[in-house]
Amino acid sequence: MNLATEQRIALISVHGDPAIEIGKEEAGGQNVYVRHVGEALAELGWQVDMFTRKVNVKQKDIVEHSPNCRTIRLKAGNVDFVPRDNIFGHLPEFVDNFLKFQEDNGIIYSLIHTNYWLSSWVGMQLKQKQGSNLVHTYHSLGAVKYNTVKTVPLIASTRLGVEKQILETAQTIVATSPQEQEHMRSLVSTKGNIDIIPCGTDIERFGCVDRKAARAELGIPSETKLVLYVGRFDQRKGIETLVRAVGQSKLLGREDFKLIICGGSRPGHSDGKERDRIEKIVAELGITQMTEFPGRVSQKDLPFYYGAADVCVVPSHYEPFGLVAIEAMASFTPVVASDVGGLQFTVVNEETGLLAPPQDVPAFANAIDRILMDAQWAEELGQAARKRVEKKFSWDGVAMQLSELYKSLSQQSVEQSSLEQPMVANS
Ligand code: UDP
Repeated sequence: MNLATEQRIALISVHGDPAIEIGKEEAGGQNVYVRHVGEALAELGWQVDMFTRKVNVKQKDIVEHSPNCRTIRLKAGNVDFVPRDNIFGHLPEFVDNFLKFQEDNGIIYSLIHTNYWLSSWVGMQLKQKQGSNLVHTYHSLGAVKYNTVKTVPLIASTRLGVEKQILETAQTIVATSPQEQEHMRSLVSTKGNIDIIPCGTDIERFGCVDRKAARAELGIPSETKLVLYVGRFDQRKGIETLVRAVGQSKLLGREDFKLIICGGSRPGHSDGKERDRIEKIVAELGITQMTEFPGRVSQKDLPFYYGAADVCVVPSHYEPFGLVAIEAMASFTPVVASDVGGLQFTVVNEETGLLAPPQDVPAFANAIDRILMDAQWAEELGQAARKRVEKKFSWDGVAMQLSELYKSLSQQSVEQSSLEQPMVANS
């Protein structure tokens, strides 16, 4: 058996296709995470297959990213977009097609890393059927999320049950921050293993353009005070807090004050409503002229936006990790973020940016103003932000830690199976 065959892993991301272009479809941090982890692991010698649900008949069934890394799209329900809260009923078909793929290709994945609770259910079926070792990353915890919404969806109790079961069943859960680990322990279960391995970012892509070049590219004058938001249009992302804070800024009324809100929807998709709502608030606040909505921006173009900004604001009500914060930090741009979840881990208050209580409009306005009104300090925060990302959040470093974890799990199961003959698949 050669090295590549021994080091084989399936990454399962049922609803977050790692092969689609981020910024164009319903894609966020999970798609970015799975794709980067997959590619970085392949560089370390792993044979990586990333499984996702096919949502469009025009999509290829298999996309090769590199000789050792591919995305495999499986049918589960109609080949069409299905909101994530409605996917659960299609998962048995996903499992069947996963098993069929294995059979057709003569592969059995003994190591599976699942992403989001839907995929964890798939992983648990596979563990039961074939004894695969399971690693899981939540990306979002129902127990936290449902505390921040007014109405919980019908699927909520199923999700909470599955999230508890995977914590107690997987060989290891990967928490992306100490704060997420704490939530798992206090809100989900005291049983099960948890390792902390953060999300990463591409430190060559982000940070490759300086402010002057970025502004020249985007046609933004050098004296402009630029506030940036990047992310999905979802009420829990707190864009309302940001626009209201800008409406309270001491700089309001200045011609050179600008707000850019990147991200957004195609017409007819659910985040369209949030975009309409935000645009209405922007109009009510009288800041339409200074606010720009470029829509979704590709990963290729984002370094210009981050590079051009004086401050990037991440006003989420809750954030398990928050890739946008580390992308901005890698781009030498200070971050003003909500004092919640993974943002408390990535953003060091008063050192790489500022933390403010979520939904606290005056606190956000004050934090944004402090950075915009002190260019020298902003520069220092940006430098410190970049250093922190280089040290803790590069994809290569993250992939190395994951690789070590997988190897130790494979080793443990070899040792265990030599003790317990014959091996019995458990649930
Ligand atoms: N993103 C993008 N283009 C956009 C808006 C967002 O490429 O117009 C990317 C962004 O760069 C980041 C991801 O989407 O990598 C969002 O991840 P995050 O963890 O911040 O939030 P999530 O969407 O997972 O809640």
